[in-house]
Amino acid sequence: MASNNKYITTPIYYVNDVPHIGHAYTTIAADVLNRFYKQKGDNSFFLTGTDEHGAKIAEAAEEKGETPKKFVDSLVPQFKKAWEALDIEYDGFIRTTDKKHEEIVTEFIKKLQDAGYVEKRKYEGLYCVGCEKFISEDELEDGKCPHHGKEPVKHSEENHFFLLSKLQDKLKQAIESDEFKVAPEARKNEVLGKINQGLEDVSISRQAVEWGAKFPGDDTQTVYVWVDALINYYSATKIFEGPKWPADLHLIGKDILWFHAIIWPAMLIAIHEKLPKEVFAHGFFTIGGKKMSKSLGNAIDPIALSEKYGADAVRYAILREFPFGEDGDISEEKIAERYKTDLGNELGNLVQRTLTMVNKYELEVGPTETLSIDTPDVDGVTIREAYDKALTNLDFSGALEVVFRITRDLNAEIERKKPWELEKTDKNELAVVMGFIYQSLLGVNELILPFMPETAEKMKKQLKTLKPEPLFPRIEE
Ligand SMILES: [Zn+2]
Repeated sequence: MASNNKYITTPIYYVNDVPHIGHAYTTIAADVLNRFYKQKGDNSFFLTGTDEHGAKIAEAAEEKGETPKKFVDSLVPQFKKAWEALDIEYDGFIRTTDKKHEEIVTEFIKKLQDAGYVEKRKYEGLYCVGCEKFISEDELEDGKCPHHGKEPVKHSEENHFFLLSKLQDKLKQAIESDEFKVAPEARKNEVLGKINQGLEDVSISRQAVEWGAKFPGDDTQTVYVWVDALINYYSATKIFEGPKWPADLHLIGKDILWFHAIIWPAMLIAIHEKLPKEVFAHGFFTIGGKKMSKSLGNAIDPIALSEKYGADAVRYAILREFPFGEDGDISEEKIAERYKTDLGNELGNLVQRTLTMVNKYELEVGPTETLSIDTPDVDGVTIREAYDKALTNLDFSGALEVVFRITRDLNAEIERKKPWELEKTDKNELAVVMGFIYQSLLGVNELILPFMPETAEKMKKQLKTLKPEPLFPRIEE
């Protein structure tokens, strides 16, 4: 079977932030998909990284009395540490301060200029330092930036503008036809709505911001940090062995849809590059019913959670709790509950009791030619097909629902057939029942791997050695 190339990205995270549960959410989702495609034999590449330029970084470095480069170097490890704690195996980690990336950014802008899509103009407007972008009056809430709660400052400068307005028809066509797919549907409609209101040209350079990629042909300017960051998806294909442009999927939070579904594809159209196949914007969550803020985000620190419950339980709970494209709520209580019920009582207990009985009743079990997950049901659909379909559509909670329906059914089967009675009355039936449960567990083992790699490995070993050990031991509070 020919292997498919897959190229999946997360946003590159702003290095001045502490990795929080929101970053973890997108990155875990990308990791699950990457592991899923690799398990199927595809040639998958998963890119993440850090966004390290801009005025805010330069200022923060200065406050610490450090050079910006030294400052960002000191911050990158905290992201790598978080991803390690969550058992995230990216294939490439890109940094926007990588010299090669900076060069490619400058070349990219040069191509935009050559294509006639850049013009220098004077610009005056309200600017949010926190967002590092100009902000229009109607975006303000009580005169303040809704994201930062701070009043924007009046700002005037000469900038290079990207002539986005010229590209709106082509962009609209690419989105409407799904040549460039924006998902979920609600987000697609939101983007088309914005395009229909008319797109204005956007500034893509900054004056007097030294900490950035060089703007071609103008030493007084650097490339606007957002544009610099977007180009990472493309520059990575020239920096790393493996990923091929175009990207198959950009996973993002819905707050950065504007950049990913409008600015980025328009820039690519302008230089006649292929468009990414899909941008998928996931929802936001509240934490224990409260809007996420810096202090709350830290209260549910992904590293601390994975130390307490294990990376797998965090990965599982966060993707199981609510559909990926929607808003939802997460809390430590919810993770603890999932750990105890779904993982401990359902899955862990099922493996343990099955192996205990196999040993006790001295049953012969082993892999069969066809797993029950590959046996079609009355509608001709196998469990694996249902699971694959859900994951391919980024329905993570749906895929997990497929898996945990099996574990529920198997536990129910044990209660119904009562192997401990069959042992006395019908040894043949006992062997059939337990053989089926055992080989169903081999299937479950395969399906949980992308979500819970460590548990899958432990479970596989137990199914082989027939020595049960608790997969999710009780956590003492
Ligand atoms: Zn802001």
